[in-house]
Amino acid sequence: MTPRCQFCTERPREEVAVLKWRGEDRDRLTVPLCMKHHARIAKAGARGWEHGGFRWKTGWW
Ligand SMILES: [Zn+2]
Repeated sequence: MTPRCQFCTERPREEVAVLKWRGEDRDRLTVPLCMKHHARIAKAGARGWEHGGFRWKTGWW
């Protein structure tokens, strides 16, 4: 099976530790991300990138 980015059909560049949260719910995940989505989440910084009703940021804290 060809690995895919968590958010699109691109080939992932790397596995990235991300925090996915909504209110008090927090999930610490490692997900495959393409360059575009890695950049997008990194750029959103501490506020996180909003997607699918959750916010996402790099790192687990
Ligand atoms: Zn992507």
